[in-house]
Amino acid sequence: MGTMIPHSRPAFDEKDAQAVAEVVRSGFVAEGEKVRLFEEKVAEAAGKKFGAAVSSGTAALHLSLLSLGIGPGDVVALPSFVCSSLLHAVRMAGAEPLLVDARSDSFHMDPAHLEKNMTARTKAVIVPHPFGFPTDLAPFKKLGIPIIEDCAQSIGATLDGRPAGAFGDISIFSFYATKVLATGEGGMVCSDSEEIISRVRDLRGYDNKDDDIRRFNYKMTDLQAALGISQLEKLKGFIGRRREIARRYDASFASLPLTLPSAKDQGGSICFRYIIRLPEGQGIDDFISQMRAEGVVCMRPIHKPLHQILGQEGFPCANEAWERSVSVPLYPALKEEEVEKIIAAVHKSAAR
Ligand SMILES: *Cc1c(COP(=O)(O)O)cnc(C)c1O
Repeated sequence: MGTMIPHSRPAFDEKDAQAVAEVVRSGFVAEGEKVRLFEEKVAEAAGKKFGAAVSSGTAALHLSLLSLGIGPGDVVALPSFVCSSLLHAVRMAGAEPLLVDARSDSFHMDPAHLEKNMTARTKAVIVPHPFGFPTDLAPFKKLGIPIIEDCAQSIGATLDGRPAGAFGDISIFSFYATKVLATGEGGMVCSDSEEIISRVRDLRGYDNKDDDIRRFNYKMTDLQAALGISQLEKLKGFIGRRREIARRYDASFASLPLTLPSAKDQGGSICFRYIIRLPEGQGIDDFISQMRAEGVVCMRPIHKPLHQILGQEGFPCANEAWERSVSVPLYPALKEEEVEKIIAAVHKSAAR
């Protein structure tokens, strides 16, 4: 059977390794000059004035909420069809979650569902660009509450010619091992507001402070930042390769009874994940085990919708998305023969 093709794998090269080795040799591995440079570069990519690096995307969300003054008694809106990081961040801030359904025709958060359910206590909304497909933020802006734009899966994506990250009051990024750019763990808060960024910078470290404010150790190290800078230089190439593989899948899967993601692609997607919807009657778990037998690891796009974890009802679109969709490997580290193997495996496993 040969080796399994993993669902995700970072694209590292000798330059990445040297960038990290250089920091090790310098003897200065904590937060320093590399972090500052990485902050500048990510802020630029996000179309924002400032960046503040932190230890993860979850830490970035947590400190974003705190920097907006959100705490106990406040409600923060977030999609149900998303990883649980967002829920944890809302709770770490002491706020309550307001879950929002997906749109019926995509994985995006439904602004109409939010508008119907929000109250005066709803103080902010976290809006992701799911799986690298940009969300139109205009309907969320109309709601009049601060927007945290979650770009954990979408650095480099564009909407109407502007980069993901440029739209929200705050935008956050993740550099976890399986994300678009990998530093092992890592995150970033970007904003045009100097005040927000200086609050995040203050809260991420506990040392040398005189006042009695609750702070954290959420700092990024120069080891991660050096790797991040090196990865960022390859972002364009990564996205080009992602789109190329996506177009190959599109062409090859068009004859199969599947709903393909690119139907909704406005052109600015970075194809972070390639998520197909299976027809009714074919189970996701069956498809995943058939693909596994062919040597390809597929996954559900998210572990479980958050409303299911919280025992809430009234999320028909998130339920439908979860019951029908599966993520097929797509990343720049895929070799040509692996792409072909994945295509053949999908043809074998998809219902005829
Ligand atoms: C991965 C991810 C996060 C959390 O990032 P971590 O670095 O893993 O903490 C938040 N939001 C979205 C949409 C993500 O995909």
